[in-house]
Amino acid sequence: MIQMIGYLRSLRSMPGIQAKINAFTQEKAAMINVKIFQFNPLQENTYLMYNEAGDCIVVDPGCYTDKERDQLKDFIEAKQLRPIMLVNTHCHLDHVFGNKFVHETYGLELHIHEGEKQVLEMAPTSGLMWNLPFDNYTGPIHFMDEKSHLALGDEAIQVLFTPGHSPASISFYAAQSSFVIAGDVLFRESVGRTDLPGGNPAVLLKSITEQLYCLPEETIVYSGHGMPTTIGHEKRHNPYVSG
Ligand SMILES: [Zn+2]
Ligand SMILES: [Zn+2]
Repeated sequence: MIQMIGYLRSLRSMPGIQAKINAFTQEKAAMINVKIFQFNPLQENTYLMYNEAGDCIVVDPGCYTDKERDQLKDFIEAKQLRPIMLVNTHCHLDHVFGNKFVHETYGLELHIHEGEKQVLEMAPTSGLMWNLPFDNYTGPIHFMDEKSHLALGDEAIQVLFTPGHSPASISFYAAQSSFVIAGDVLFRESVGRTDLPGGNPAVLLKSITEQLYCLPEETIVYSGHGMPTTIGHEKRHNPYVSG
């Protein structure tokens, strides 16, 4: 009799287990892949976020040479991806070199924070100063802020407002896939410079502690330069901002 009750109990718990398995496999299927390219003489990280369905968001295309533009295009073709959105974390020249190419190749219009528009307009002038002339993006611009989400399949990617390195830098947080693309705000054991126009060390510190260090420790941080890190690693080892 006791065994019988046990049997019935385990039967009753079956739908619960099945629901959990379903949720797990769905979660797996919805995971976002991140491809990293290192482009241009400033060694900027360009990111593609893409899912199993082949939808793809282009983040900070820094491709400067024909070879780099081909590299981006070849990857998209080889994986049969469908670029659906073009976004910039911020508009320093090294992050915007390829905006025009992505727009002309895939018909995508640029999404940035409104506070970066001026930085974008200044980028070609900075290009001349760095001896890196380029043709700026001139298509329509759409604005995003911390109330915006990017959609990649079923996963909503949250926009975080993380200024300080530049006036209106934003980060892209994919909670389900457990990563954040943080632009030049936070690096592995370093932080973004604050001596460029619109930079502010106190604002940068606030962005890191209040927007990034509150994310789960295992969250992978993909930065605008250098190797990926995690929130937990930075909270323990970042010499500039401890958590
Ligand atoms: Zn920057
Ligand atoms: Zn940069």
